[in-house]
Amino acid sequence: MSESVAVIGAGLVGCLAALAFSSKGYNVTLYELRQDPRQDVSSGKSMRSINLAVSDRGIRALKYVNEEMAERILKHVIPMTGRMIHDITGTKQESQVYGLFGESINSIDRLLLNKCLLDELDKCNIKTFFEHKLVDMGNVSTPDSPIFLEFVTKDSKREKREFDFIVGCDGAFSQSRYLMQKTMRMNYSQKYVEQQYIELYIPPASGSSSSDPKYSIDPNHLHIWPRKEFMLIALANSDGSFTSTFFSTWNLIDSIKSSQEFLDFFKKNFPDAYTMIGEAGLKHAYENQPRGALMQVALSPFVSPNNRAILIGDAAHSMVPFYGQGMNCGFEDVHVLMKLIEQNKTIEKAFSKYTDARKEDVDTICRLAYENYQNMSAKVLDPFYLLRKKIDYV
Ligand code: FAD
Repeated sequence: MSESVAVIGAGLVGCLAALAFSSKGYNVTLYELRQDPRQDVSSGKSMRSINLAVSDRGIRALKYVNEEMAERILKHVIPMTGRMIHDITGTKQESQVYGLFGESINSIDRLLLNKCLLDELDKCNIKTFFEHKLVDMGNVSTPDSPIFLEFVTKDSKREKREFDFIVGCDGAFSQSRYLMQKTMRMNYSQKYVEQQYIELYIPPASGSSSSDPKYSIDPNHLHIWPRKEFMLIALANSDGSFTSTFFSTWNLIDSIKSSQEFLDFFKKNFPDAYTMIGEAGLKHAYENQPRGALMQVALSPFVSPNNRAILIGDAAHSMVPFYGQGMNCGFEDVHVLMKLIEQNKTIEKAFSKYTDARKEDVDTICRLAYENYQNMSAKVLDPFYLLRKKIDYV
Protein backbone atom coordinates (compact mmCIF):
# COMPACT_ATOMS: atom_id res chain seq x y z
CA MET A 1 0.00 0.00 0.00
CA SER A 2 1.27 3.50 -0.81
CA GLU A 3 2.35 5.82 2.00
CA SER A 4 -0.32 8.12 3.42
CA VAL A 5 -0.03 11.91 3.33
CA ALA A 6 -2.32 14.31 5.21
CA VAL A 7 -2.50 17.83 3.81
CA ILE A 8 -3.87 20.40 6.26
CA GLY A 9 -5.69 23.36 4.66
CA ALA A 10 -7.51 23.40 1.31
CA GLY A 11 -6.45 26.95 0.46
CA LEU A 12 -4.53 27.62 -2.74
CA VAL A 13 -1.27 25.99 -1.63
CA GLY A 14 -2.87 23.03 0.15
CA CYS A 15 -4.91 22.12 -2.94
CA LEU A 16 -1.85 22.22 -5.19
CA ALA A 17 0.18 20.21 -2.66
CA ALA A 18 -2.55 17.55 -2.46
CA LEU A 19 -2.68 17.31 -6.27
CA ALA A 20 1.12 17.09 -6.47
CA PHE A 21 1.46 14.28 -3.89
CA SER A 22 -1.43 12.42 -5.50
CA SER A 23 0.20 12.65 -8.93
CA LYS A 24 3.27 10.96 -7.44
CA GLY A 25 1.10 8.03 -6.33
CA TYR A 26 0.75 8.78 -2.61
CA ASN A 27 -2.47 8.17 -0.71
CA VAL A 28 -3.57 11.75 0.02
CA THR A 29 -6.21 13.05 2.46
CA LEU A 30 -6.96 16.77 2.60
CA TYR A 31 -8.51 18.47 5.65
CA GLU A 32 -10.08 21.92 5.66
CA LEU A 33 -11.52 23.96 8.51
CA ARG A 34 -14.13 25.78 6.43
CA GLN A 35 -17.00 24.46 4.38
CA ASP A 36 -16.55 23.69 0.69
CA PRO A 37 -16.62 27.12 -1.03
CA ARG A 38 -18.38 25.53 -4.01
CA GLN A 39 -21.33 24.73 -1.76
CA ASP A 40 -21.28 28.05 0.06
CA VAL A 41 -23.78 30.13 -1.94
CA SER A 42 -22.90 33.21 0.08
CA SER A 43 -19.23 33.03 -0.94
CA GLY A 44 -20.04 33.92 -4.53
CA LYS A 45 -22.56 36.63 -3.74
CA SER A 46 -21.59 38.43 -0.58
CA MET A 47 -17.85 38.38 -1.21
CA ARG A 48 -16.55 40.74 -3.85
CA SER A 49 -14.29 39.08 -6.35
CA ILE A 50 -10.94 39.53 -4.61
CA ASN A 51 -8.18 38.85 -7.08
CA LEU A 52 -4.49 38.22 -7.02
CA ALA A 53 -1.57 38.15 -9.42
CA VAL A 54 -0.25 34.82 -10.66
CA SER A 55 3.29 35.11 -11.96
CA ASP A 56 5.60 32.86 -13.94
CA ARG A 57 6.83 31.26 -10.68
CA GLY A 58 3.29 30.11 -9.85
CA ILE A 59 2.48 29.10 -13.42
CA ARG A 60 5.58 26.90 -13.64
CA ALA A 61 4.49 25.07 -10.49
CA LEU A 62 0.94 24.58 -11.80
CA LYS A 63 2.32 23.24 -15.09
CA TYR A 64 4.74 20.92 -13.30
CA VAL A 65 1.87 19.34 -11.36
CA ASN A 66 -0.45 19.04 -14.35
CA GLU A 67 0.05 20.82 -17.67
CA GLU A 68 -3.58 20.41 -18.75
CA MET A 69 -4.87 21.64 -15.41
CA ALA A 70 -2.66 24.71 -15.74
CA GLU A 71 -4.14 25.42 -19.18
CA ARG A 72 -7.67 25.09 -17.80
CA ILE A 73 -6.85 27.57 -15.02
CA LEU A 74 -4.92 30.01 -17.18
CA LYS A 75 -7.97 30.48 -19.40
CA HIS A 76 -9.37 32.65 -16.59
CA VAL A 77 -6.45 35.07 -16.17
CA ILE A 78 -6.19 38.64 -17.38
CA PRO A 79 -2.57 39.38 -18.37
CA MET A 80 -1.09 42.61 -17.00
CA THR A 81 1.87 43.66 -19.14
CA GLY A 82 2.85 46.64 -17.03
CA ARG A 83 1.98 49.12 -14.32
CA MET A 84 -0.22 52.11 -15.02
CA ILE A 85 0.73 55.05 -12.84
CA HIS A 86 -2.08 57.48 -12.02
CA ASP A 87 -1.04 61.04 -11.15
CA ILE A 88 -2.56 63.13 -8.38
CA THR A 89 -4.57 65.33 -10.74
CA GLY A 90 -6.48 62.26 -11.94
CA THR A 91 -5.87 63.26 -15.56
CA LYS A 92 -2.56 61.57 -16.49
CA GLN A 93 -1.71 57.88 -16.69
CA GLU A 94 1.76 56.53 -17.49
CA SER A 95 2.34 52.96 -18.64
CA GLN A 96 5.52 51.27 -17.38
CA VAL A 97 5.82 47.91 -19.13
CA TYR A 98 7.28 44.93 -17.25
CA GLY A 99 9.36 43.62 -20.15
CA LEU A 100 10.44 44.19 -23.71
CA PHE A 101 8.63 41.11 -25.01
CA GLY A 102 5.18 41.51 -23.49
CA GLU A 103 6.02 39.64 -20.26
CA SER A 104 3.14 39.79 -17.84
CA ILE A 105 1.81 38.96 -14.44
CA ASN A 106 -1.77 37.75 -14.44
CA SER A 107 -4.86 38.79 -12.55
CA ILE A 108 -7.17 35.98 -11.40
CA ASP A 109 -10.16 35.76 -9.08
CA ARG A 110 -8.91 34.13 -5.87
CA LEU A 111 -12.15 32.26 -5.18
CA LEU A 112 -12.38 31.02 -8.76
CA LEU A 113 -8.79 29.74 -8.59
CA ASN A 114 -9.54 27.91 -5.33
CA LYS A 115 -12.69 26.38 -6.82
CA CYS A 116 -10.81 25.31 -9.99
CA LEU A 117 -8.18 23.56 -7.85
CA LEU A 118 -10.88 21.86 -5.76
CA ASP A 119 -12.55 20.64 -8.97
CA GLU A 120 -9.20 19.14 -10.01
CA LEU A 121 -9.00 17.32 -6.66
CA ASP A 122 -12.34 15.67 -7.38
CA LYS A 123 -10.86 14.16 -10.54
CA CYS A 124 -8.10 12.46 -8.52
CA ASN A 125 -8.26 9.84 -5.86
CA ILE A 126 -7.97 12.40 -3.02
CA LYS A 127 -10.24 12.23 0.02
CA THR A 128 -11.22 15.74 1.09
CA PHE A 129 -12.83 16.51 4.45
CA PHE A 130 -14.28 20.01 4.90
CA GLU A 131 -15.28 21.42 8.27
CA HIS A 132 -12.50 19.46 9.95
CA LYS A 133 -10.34 21.56 12.23
CA LEU A 134 -6.91 20.26 13.13
CA VAL A 135 -6.55 20.41 16.93
CA ASP A 136 -3.82 17.97 17.90
CA MET A 137 -0.76 16.22 16.46
CA GLY A 138 1.56 13.46 17.67
CA ASN A 139 5.22 13.88 18.50
CA VAL A 140 7.22 15.02 15.45
CA SER A 141 10.64 14.44 17.01
CA THR A 142 10.48 10.72 17.74
CA PRO A 143 11.22 8.35 14.85
CA ASP A 144 7.87 6.55 15.33
CA SER A 145 5.57 6.43 12.39
CA PRO A 146 2.74 6.94 11.67
CA ILE A 147 1.86 10.21 13.43
CA PHE A 148 -1.61 10.83 14.76
CA LEU A 149 -3.69 13.91 13.94
CA GLU A 150 -6.87 14.91 15.72
CA PHE A 151 -9.70 16.94 14.19
CA VAL A 152 -12.90 18.49 15.46
CA THR A 153 -15.79 18.25 13.00
CA LYS A 154 -18.64 20.73 12.57
CA ASP A 155 -20.87 18.67 14.89
CA SER A 156 -18.10 18.86 17.55
CA LYS A 157 -17.04 15.22 17.16
CA ARG A 158 -13.36 14.45 17.64
CA GLU A 159 -11.68 12.27 15.00
CA LYS A 160 -8.22 10.75 15.34
CA ARG A 161 -6.33 9.48 12.30
CA GLU A 162 -2.77 8.34 11.61
CA PHE A 163 -0.60 9.30 8.64
CA ASP A 164 2.92 8.59 7.47
CA PHE A 165 3.48 12.24 6.46
CA ILE A 166 1.89 15.60 7.31
CA VAL A 167 1.97 18.69 5.09
CA GLY A 168 0.86 21.84 6.94
CA CYS A 169 -0.64 24.41 4.53
CA ASP A 170 -3.00 26.07 6.99
CA GLY A 171 -2.00 29.66 6.44
CA ALA A 172 -0.41 32.50 8.36
CA PHE A 173 -1.93 31.52 11.73
CA SER A 174 -1.09 27.85 11.16
CA GLN A 175 -2.27 25.36 13.74
CA SER A 176 0.07 22.72 12.27
CA ARG A 177 2.98 25.05 12.99
CA TYR A 178 1.81 25.64 16.56
CA LEU A 179 1.38 21.89 17.17
CA MET A 180 4.74 21.01 15.60
CA GLN A 181 6.45 23.59 17.81
CA LYS A 182 5.24 21.71 20.88
CA THR A 183 7.46 18.71 20.14
CA MET A 184 10.37 20.20 18.19
CA ARG A 185 12.76 23.13 18.33
CA MET A 186 11.51 25.50 15.66
CA ASN A 187 12.66 29.12 15.52
CA TYR A 188 9.78 31.39 14.75
CA SER A 189 9.20 35.12 14.35
CA GLN A 190 6.13 37.15 13.49
CA LYS A 191 6.25 40.86 12.76
CA TYR A 192 3.37 43.16 11.93
CA VAL A 193 4.30 45.93 9.48
CA GLU A 194 3.03 49.47 9.90
CA GLN A 195 0.73 49.30 6.86
CA GLN A 196 -2.90 48.20 6.77
CA TYR A 197 -5.19 47.62 3.79
CA ILE A 198 -8.84 48.09 2.85
CA GLU A 199 -10.44 46.33 -0.13
CA LEU A 200 -12.42 48.55 -2.53
CA TYR A 201 -14.38 47.83 -5.68
CA ILE A 202 -14.46 49.61 -9.05
CA PRO A 203 -17.64 48.53 -10.86
CA PRO A 204 -17.71 47.66 -14.57
CA ALA A 205 -18.07 50.60 -16.98
CA SER A 206 -21.55 51.47 -18.16
CA GLY A 207 -22.87 49.20 -20.91
CA SER A 208 -20.87 46.25 -19.58
CA SER A 209 -22.42 42.78 -19.67
CA SER A 210 -21.17 39.29 -18.83
CA SER A 211 -20.70 38.52 -22.54
CA ASP A 212 -19.14 41.92 -23.27
CA PRO A 213 -17.30 43.29 -20.22
CA LYS A 214 -16.37 46.97 -20.37
CA TYR A 215 -13.65 48.46 -18.19
CA SER A 216 -13.25 52.05 -17.01
CA ILE A 217 -9.44 51.74 -17.18
CA ASP A 218 -7.13 49.41 -19.11
CA PRO A 219 -7.56 45.83 -17.77
CA ASN A 220 -4.10 44.78 -18.98
CA HIS A 221 -2.21 46.91 -16.47
CA LEU A 222 -1.77 46.78 -12.73
CA HIS A 223 -3.01 50.24 -11.77
CA ILE A 224 -1.11 52.14 -9.10
CA TRP A 225 -1.84 55.48 -7.47
CA PRO A 226 1.51 55.97 -5.69
CA ARG A 227 1.47 58.65 -2.99
CA LYS A 228 4.60 57.64 -1.02
CA GLU A 229 3.12 57.24 2.49
CA PHE A 230 0.01 55.54 1.10
CA MET A 231 -1.14 54.07 -2.21
CA LEU A 232 -4.02 52.57 -4.09
CA ILE A 233 -3.80 49.65 -6.52
CA ALA A 234 -6.35 47.96 -8.80
CA LEU A 235 -6.40 44.64 -10.69
CA ALA A 236 -9.00 43.75 -13.31
CA ASN A 237 -11.68 41.07 -12.94
CA SER A 238 -13.15 39.31 -15.96
CA ASP A 239 -16.59 40.96 -15.54
CA GLY A 240 -15.33 44.51 -16.23
CA SER A 241 -14.82 45.37 -12.55
CA PHE A 242 -11.56 45.94 -10.65
CA THR A 243 -10.60 44.91 -7.16
CA SER A 244 -8.79 47.83 -5.63
CA THR A 245 -6.76 47.93 -2.43
CA PHE A 246 -5.94 50.99 -0.36
CA PHE A 247 -2.70 50.67 1.64
CA SER A 248 -1.66 53.18 4.29
CA THR A 249 -0.07 53.32 7.72
CA TRP A 250 -2.32 52.52 10.67
CA ASN A 251 -1.66 56.07 11.92
CA LEU A 252 -3.10 57.53 8.75
CA ILE A 253 -6.27 55.41 8.63
CA ASP A 254 -6.82 55.92 12.38
CA SER A 255 -6.59 59.70 11.86
CA ILE A 256 -9.56 59.55 9.45
CA LYS A 257 -12.52 59.74 11.80
CA SER A 258 -15.59 59.59 9.55
CA SER A 259 -16.74 58.39 6.13
CA GLN A 260 -16.94 62.05 5.05
CA GLU A 261 -13.25 62.52 5.92
CA PHE A 262 -12.50 59.33 3.98
CA LEU A 263 -14.37 60.72 0.96
CA ASP A 264 -12.51 64.04 1.21
CA PHE A 265 -9.19 62.20 1.47
CA PHE A 266 -9.96 60.13 -1.64
CA LYS A 267 -11.22 63.11 -3.65
CA LYS A 268 -7.99 64.99 -2.92
CA ASN A 269 -5.52 62.13 -3.43
CA PHE A 270 -7.17 59.80 -5.98
CA PRO A 271 -9.65 61.97 -7.92
CA ASP A 272 -10.08 59.56 -10.85
CA ALA A 273 -10.45 56.53 -8.57
CA TYR A 274 -12.90 58.56 -6.45
CA THR A 275 -15.15 58.92 -9.48
CA MET A 276 -14.79 55.29 -10.56
CA ILE A 277 -15.43 53.76 -7.13
CA GLY A 278 -18.15 56.28 -6.37
CA GLU A 279 -19.11 57.98 -3.12
CA ALA A 280 -21.47 55.18 -2.08
CA GLY A 281 -18.80 52.51 -2.64
CA LEU A 282 -16.18 54.44 -0.68
CA LYS A 283 -18.57 55.16 2.18
CA HIS A 284 -19.61 51.51 2.29
CA ALA A 285 -15.98 50.37 2.33
CA TYR A 286 -15.00 52.80 5.08
CA GLU A 287 -17.92 51.73 7.25
CA ASN A 288 -17.98 47.98 6.55
CA GLN A 289 -14.72 46.66 5.19
CA PRO A 290 -12.26 45.35 7.77
CA ARG A 291 -8.81 46.96 7.97
CA GLY A 292 -6.39 44.16 7.14
CA ALA A 293 -3.24 43.78 9.21
CA LEU A 294 -0.13 42.68 7.35
CA MET A 295 2.64 40.56 8.80
CA GLN A 296 5.77 38.67 7.98
CA VAL A 297 6.34 35.20 9.40
CA ALA A 298 9.74 33.55 9.35
CA LEU A 299 10.68 30.16 10.71
CA SER A 300 13.32 27.50 10.58
CA PRO A 301 13.46 24.61 10.05
CA PHE A 302 10.38 23.98 7.89
CA VAL A 303 10.58 20.23 8.58
CA SER A 304 10.28 18.14 11.76
CA PRO A 305 13.31 16.25 13.16
CA ASN A 306 11.76 12.89 12.18
CA ASN A 307 11.28 14.16 8.59
CA ARG A 308 7.57 13.36 8.70
CA ALA A 309 5.94 16.81 8.98
CA ILE A 310 6.56 19.89 6.84
CA LEU A 311 5.20 23.44 6.62
CA ILE A 312 4.73 25.21 3.28
CA GLY A 313 2.84 28.25 1.94
CA ASP A 314 1.83 31.02 4.32
CA ALA A 315 2.19 28.60 7.24
CA ALA A 316 5.93 28.70 6.56
CA HIS A 317 6.44 32.24 5.23
CA SER A 318 3.54 34.66 5.38
CA MET A 319 4.77 37.81 3.62
CA VAL A 320 3.41 41.29 2.92
CA PRO A 321 1.53 41.41 -0.43
CA PHE A 322 3.55 44.19 -2.12
CA TYR A 323 5.41 41.84 -4.45
CA GLY A 324 2.32 39.75 -5.25
CA GLN A 325 4.31 36.62 -4.45
CA GLY A 326 2.78 34.97 -1.35
CA MET A 327 0.76 32.37 -3.23
CA ASN A 328 3.32 32.15 -6.05
CA CYS A 329 6.03 31.36 -3.52
CA GLY A 330 3.74 28.77 -1.88
CA PHE A 331 3.20 27.16 -5.29
CA GLU A 332 6.97 27.17 -5.78
CA ASP A 333 7.35 25.40 -2.39
CA VAL A 334 5.30 22.55 -3.87
CA HIS A 335 7.40 22.58 -7.05
CA VAL A 336 10.71 22.46 -5.15
CA LEU A 337 9.44 19.72 -2.83
CA MET A 338 8.26 17.54 -5.71
CA LYS A 339 11.59 17.88 -7.48
CA LEU A 340 13.35 16.82 -4.26
CA ILE A 341 11.09 13.75 -4.06
CA GLU A 342 11.95 12.97 -7.68
CA GLN A 343 15.69 13.27 -7.00
CA ASN A 344 15.71 11.52 -3.61
CA LYS A 345 13.09 8.84 -4.31
CA THR A 346 11.49 9.00 -0.82
CA ILE A 347 9.50 11.71 0.96
CA GLU A 348 11.63 11.32 4.08
CA LYS A 349 14.87 12.05 2.22
CA ALA A 350 13.24 14.92 0.31
CA PHE A 351 11.95 16.46 3.57
CA SER A 352 15.43 16.17 5.10
CA LYS A 353 16.87 18.32 2.29
CA TYR A 354 13.99 20.80 1.99
CA THR A 355 14.91 23.49 4.56
CA ASP A 356 18.42 23.91 3.16
CA ALA A 357 17.08 23.96 -0.39
CA ARG A 358 14.39 26.54 0.32
CA LYS A 359 15.27 28.82 3.24
CA GLU A 360 17.48 31.35 1.47
CA ASP A 361 15.02 31.89 -1.39
CA VAL A 362 12.06 32.23 0.97
CA ASP A 363 13.89 34.79 3.15
CA THR A 364 14.85 36.73 0.02
CA ILE A 365 11.32 36.94 -1.39
CA CYS A 366 9.99 38.04 2.03
CA ARG A 367 12.58 40.84 2.11
CA LEU A 368 11.85 41.86 -1.49
CA ALA A 369 8.11 41.88 -0.74
CA TYR A 370 8.63 44.34 2.06
CA GLU A 371 11.02 46.45 0.02
CA ASN A 372 8.55 46.62 -2.86
CA TYR A 373 6.19 48.80 -0.84
CA GLN A 374 8.75 51.57 -1.30
CA ASN A 375 9.06 50.72 -4.99
CA MET A 376 5.33 50.78 -5.66
CA SER A 377 4.40 53.73 -3.50
CA ALA A 378 7.35 55.99 -4.27
CA LYS A 379 10.09 54.70 -6.57
CA VAL A 380 7.74 54.44 -9.54
CA LEU A 381 7.49 58.23 -9.28
CA ASP A 382 11.14 59.00 -8.72
CA PRO A 383 13.97 56.65 -9.67
CA PHE A 384 16.33 58.27 -7.14
CA TYR A 385 13.96 57.87 -4.18
CA LEU A 386 15.55 54.70 -2.83
CA LEU A 387 18.98 56.29 -2.88
CA ARG A 388 17.79 59.18 -0.75
CA LYS A 389 15.61 57.32 1.72
CA LYS A 390 16.91 54.76 4.18
CA ILE A 391 14.79 51.59 3.96
CA ASP A 392 14.40 49.19 6.85
CA TYR A 393 13.96 45.58 5.91
CA VAL A 394 11.96 43.18 8.02
P1 FAD B 1 -4.38 30.24 2.98
O1 FAD B 1 -4.87 30.79 1.71
O2 FAD B 1 -4.47 31.09 4.21
O3 FAD B 1 -5.15 28.85 3.23
C1 FAD B 1 -5.04 28.18 4.47
C2 FAD B 1 -6.21 27.23 4.59
O4 FAD B 1 -6.06 26.47 5.80
C3 FAD B 1 -7.54 27.97 4.72
O5 FAD B 1 -8.45 27.45 3.79
C4 FAD B 1 -7.96 27.74 6.16
O6 FAD B 1 -9.35 27.70 6.35
C5 FAD B 1 -7.30 26.38 6.45
N1 FAD B 1 -7.06 26.16 7.89
C6 FAD B 1 -6.62 27.06 8.80
N2 FAD B 1 -6.53 26.49 10.02
C7 FAD B 1 -6.92 25.20 9.88
C8 FAD B 1 -7.06 24.10 10.80
N3 FAD B 1 -6.77 24.21 12.11
N4 FAD B 1 -7.50 22.91 10.31
C9 FAD B 1 -7.81 22.77 8.98
N5 FAD B 1 -7.70 23.76 8.08
C10 FAD B 1 -7.26 24.97 8.51
N6 FAD B 1 -0.13 36.29 -3.33
C11 FAD B 1 0.23 36.24 -4.63
O7 FAD B 1 0.92 35.30 -5.04
N7 FAD B 1 -0.18 37.21 -5.52
C12 FAD B 1 -0.93 38.28 -5.14
O8 FAD B 1 -1.27 39.14 -5.96
C13 FAD B 1 -1.32 38.38 -3.77
N8 FAD B 1 -2.05 39.42 -3.34
C14 FAD B 1 -2.41 39.49 -2.02
C15 FAD B 1 -3.13 40.61 -1.57
C16 FAD B 1 -3.47 40.73 -0.25
C17 FAD B 1 -4.23 41.94 0.21
C18 FAD B 1 -3.09 39.71 0.66
C19 FAD B 1 -3.44 39.82 2.13
C20 FAD B 1 -2.38 38.60 0.24
C21 FAD B 1 -2.01 38.48 -1.10
N9 FAD B 1 -1.27 37.38 -1.58
C22 FAD B 1 -0.89 37.34 -2.89
C23 FAD B 1 -0.83 36.32 -0.66
C24 FAD B 1 -1.73 35.09 -0.78
O9 FAD B 1 -3.07 35.45 -0.50
C25 FAD B 1 -1.28 34.02 0.20
O10 FAD B 1 0.11 33.85 0.12
C26 FAD B 1 -1.95 32.68 -0.12
O11 FAD B 1 -3.34 32.80 0.02
C27 FAD B 1 -1.43 31.61 0.84
O12 FAD B 1 -2.07 30.41 0.55
P2 FAD B 1 -2.05 29.23 1.63
O13 FAD B 1 -2.82 28.12 0.99
O14 FAD B 1 -0.66 28.99 2.11
O15 FAD B 1 -2.85 29.82 2.88
